[in-house]
Amino acid sequence: MDEAAIEAKGLAPLRPHLEAIAAIRDKRELARALGESLRADVDALNNTNYHTANLFGLWVAPGFNDSDHYTAYLLQGGLQLPDREYYLGEDEHMRDIRTKYQAHVSAILKLAGFSDTDARAIRILELEHAIAQTHRSLADNEDILRANNTWTQADFAAKAPGLDWAGYFRGAGINQQASFIVWQPEAFTGESALVASTALDTWKDWLAFHLIEAYGGVLPKALAEERFAFFGKVLSGTPQQRPRWQRGVFVVNGLLGDAVGQSYAHQYFPPEAKAQAQAMVANLIAAFRKRIDDLSWMDPATKAEAQAKLSTLYVGIGYPETWHDYSSFEVKADDIFGNIWRGNLSDYRREVARLGKAVDRKEWSMTPQTVNAVNLPLQNALNFPAAILQPPFFDPLAPAAANYGAIGSVIGHEISHTFDTEGSTFDSKGRVRNWWTPADLAHFEAATAQLAAQYDTYKPFPDLSVNGKQTLAENIADVAGISAAYDGYQASLGGKTAPAQDGLSGDQQFFIAFGQNWGSKTREAALRQQVMTDPHAPAQYRAATARNIDAWYATFNVQPGEKLYLASPDRVRIW
Ligand SMILES: [Zn+2]
Repeated sequence: MDEAAIEAKGLAPLRPHLEAIAAIRDKRELARALGESLRADVDALNNTNYHTANLFGLWVAPGFNDSDHYTAYLLQGGLQLPDREYYLGEDEHMRDIRTKYQAHVSAILKLAGFSDTDARAIRILELEHAIAQTHRSLADNEDILRANNTWTQADFAAKAPGLDWAGYFRGAGINQQASFIVWQPEAFTGESALVASTALDTWKDWLAFHLIEAYGGVLPKALAEERFAFFGKVLSGTPQQRPRWQRGVFVVNGLLGDAVGQSYAHQYFPPEAKAQAQAMVANLIAAFRKRIDDLSWMDPATKAEAQAKLSTLYVGIGYPETWHDYSSFEVKADDIFGNIWRGNLSDYRREVARLGKAVDRKEWSMTPQTVNAVNLPLQNALNFPAAILQPPFFDPLAPAAANYGAIGSVIGHEISHTFDTEGSTFDSKGRVRNWWTPADLAHFEAATAQLAAQYDTYKPFPDLSVNGKQTLAENIADVAGISAAYDGYQASLGGKTAPAQDGLSGDQQFFIAFGQNWGSKTREAALRQQVMTDPHAPAQYRAATARNIDAWYATFNVQPGEKLYLASPDRVRIW
């Protein structure tokens, strides 16, 4: 919060790092510096974060082919803008963003004391454009089988010549690691070749710019404001920054999430709420078991493995059973730059230290104070943080109809990821294994293709459609989630009629609560960014998926011609 101290320090915290970049004499030293910048800042399957501005990103998780041990996954990176489409898209909106981005790169370099910044900005953009051309698209990133590529250390030099890989791995401190899973081999080949073919000075400018950008928020006001003017205003349409104290909370939450979470869960998540949420999860799992048994199209052997996945599923409610140890993270007063630097590094070192060790299936990937829920396919586990187990999602005092419609649909959504396009790739032990018969898979793919086509028709803007393939796994989970929640709700009534409330029947309360899950407001730029980079469809279309559910029609007497009407053959039924 001490902005005066930050102004007084000026660029001093940045200077040793900029000097180290300036001192790089050749491509060998560049490789080492690129390695030193590697962080554990991507997460392909749990939090679906494929983006890092560093050259590559590390994700440590159970192995695709050895789910008992933590394995190193390497993902493409190197772009400051959110996705390759921002560099390659030819429409007017994307061109406009690129023009403003180039001016922003120049402005940042100028504020950091660089000369000749317009020319440097052009070269940085050219380099990032070339990197973008090597990148796999978001929709393709979600294809697990295409991501399962094991490379030994020696493979990198042979399959991706250009970068001095030995130097890179030494710089990253992972030169002892025998092999990696390379998510997008063609991007590694392409980016490594660019290290060889692009001028050293351009790479040094790129490194300096990326460093300043990463820390711009905690540098003097002029830099922080320039950063917000582009990433906040242009890219997300946000007219003004959040108050500084809120940004401070984000920093603490990001670097000391478990420490905050331990305190949060203790204060706000009583054992009674936990017990009630656990009971709902048990009902939802029972509803899923029945739905699987009742499927007419699925082979008995496939059903048995699906049931086995439900039997071994770990469901974490509220908060994790163990907490991160932050004792190696030194936090100093009046050193926000250093604190963030050391926090990211200590995070990275904790992840690297886990490589090769036995997997803890009960480990969480979300903090208790996160308003979200997650399925961890490689651990066959779910996390429901304490912060989503409160209104409007869950209220121990609310009618069952509202709780099932709201949090019940979320619970059903997460359970169903166990069986969606991604979950169907992993067996009950979290291994990559095809446990579906060809006929089952053919049916599943036909039904899900119909759902992808349904979402392709949604257009938040005349020139931009939702990408049905990119959002497919989440849309399947939404249909399955509300279906199972509805069943769970009906079962919870035990044959009795639900009590009406405010003149609404039980079913009406259920669907209204479901819709309220998705109440949100988004500015145009942020919504455009979401459509292009998020595996989830925008909130209004997630609410609209109620039209795939037969019970929806009787509940509100929905008629042909109405916006949320679908003829029976067009309703997608998967689980
Ligand atoms: Zn999901």
